[in-house]
Amino acid sequence: MGEYSKEYYKKRREFFLEYSKEYYETHREYYKEYYRSNKYIICKRSRDKWREKRNKILEFAGKKCIKCGFNDERALSIDHIDGRGFTRISWNKELNKILQSIEDKTFNLKFQILCFNCNQIKKVENNENPKWWHTINGQ
Ligand SMILES: [Zn+2]
Repeated sequence: MGEYSKEYYKKRREFFLEYSKEYYETHREYYKEYYRSNKYIICKRSRDKWREKRNKILEFAGKKCIKCGFNDERALSIDHIDGRGFTRISWNKELNKILQSIEDKTFNLKFQILCFNCNQIKKVENNENPKWWHTINGQ
């Protein structure tokens, strides 16, 4: 390799380094901006999905507490009959599982609709572990 091409490659390398640095900077801003301006839509989309699933379940199971008849959706929960409750981590997975149980016709064996009060009373009476508990509310 002659002096000429060494110089050439060095220059080209510098150029690429400079170029990719610039590329990175501009695109980092671009991705940040993309997320910033679409954050609302991204969040809304997953919230809508969650609402839709929850509504399907309530439509199927009846929109009232099976113990006391309370029917304000905002304070209704889907309760695991066996007391396992919900896990917060796999929230979406849990909803999918419940929807699956409707398909399998096993929903009534596994789940029931309770209002927050009755759910709380059931937990205390049955000594259920609150760590595993999560409810579906209207928000
Ligand atoms: Zn109730």
